[in-house]
Amino acid sequence: MNGRTVCIMLLIVSIMTAGCINSANRQARVAEDRGKPLVYASIYPMYDFAKKIGGDRIDLRMAVPAGAEPHGWEPTARLLVEIGRADVFIYNGVGMEPWVDRMLASLPGGRPVVVEASEGIKLLEMKGRDRHGHSPAGYDPHVWLDPVRAKMQAESILKALVQVDRDNAEYYRANFRDFSAKLEELDRLYREALAGSGGREIVVSHAAFGYLADRYGLIQIPVSGLNPQEEPGAAELVQLAKLLQDKNIDHVFFETLTSPKLAETLAREVGAKPEVLNPIGGLTRQQMEEGMDYISIMKQNLETLKRVLDE
Ligand SMILES: [Zn+2]
Repeated sequence: MNGRTVCIMLLIVSIMTAGCINSANRQARVAEDRGKPLVYASIYPMYDFAKKIGGDRIDLRMAVPAGAEPHGWEPTARLLVEIGRADVFIYNGVGMEPWVDRMLASLPGGRPVVVEASEGIKLLEMKGRDRHGHSPAGYDPHVWLDPVRAKMQAESILKALVQVDRDNAEYYRANFRDFSAKLEELDRLYREALAGSGGREIVVSHAAFGYLADRYGLIQIPVSGLNPQEEPGAAELVQLAKLLQDKNIDHVFFETLTSPKLAETLAREVGAKPEVLNPIGGLTRQQMEEGMDYISIMKQNLETLKRVLDE
């Protein structure tokens, strides 16, 4: 054996040892924190899916705080450091969290295990005018609003939890089975309720419902320039009135309750009623405390859709 071969062998051994130490460190860390992996989720739907699977055996935190608007949100430097120390980091991807790419580039290797929940899922394109406030990449980021795709996202989360905490793998798998049964039930409810509504158009103030519409045969028409708490300008009202008249539609879906004044203006000027469809991108603290979650809001959304489309 010459000196060079010995050197290479030593190098290989030291790389292998480093790998072992890394994974041993993670295990040790998990043990040190009362056995709970620290899991960061970027936005509410990722948080809710992780919560349903991780239950009380993970220390779960949400990056975008309750009540904050997830589009255009930016983390503090301190939060980025905290996320860097987590065992798992979950994000939706498709440009929903533009800050993540920069963060990942700055993280040292080895931690956390990163889950891009939309990876491998068939994406829908987003038209130019709907991209306002969204990723310029051309794909629609609101993947979670289709229960079938939501289940795929949940499965990616499951894999990461099992990877960092094998001791609780069976617990995570059982929770995932329960949650995916609920998602399948939700999908069935939507299919049944909207079976007769194929091709119907819904007018929305935020182009978040592309995947939902695509899954259940609806057509989403986003109107820009509508804010639930502000009165639209005269030009927007004229445009909206013409659109609703052309399509024979008498509703506009907002993300949150509209101000009574806006409701009045809409009724008077364009003969439309404001309704609420929640895109579940972020919940308020109160909504979270009341026990609302992805499944319950999706059911509420379905009831609203059905009522409006049946009217
Ligand atoms: Zn959006």
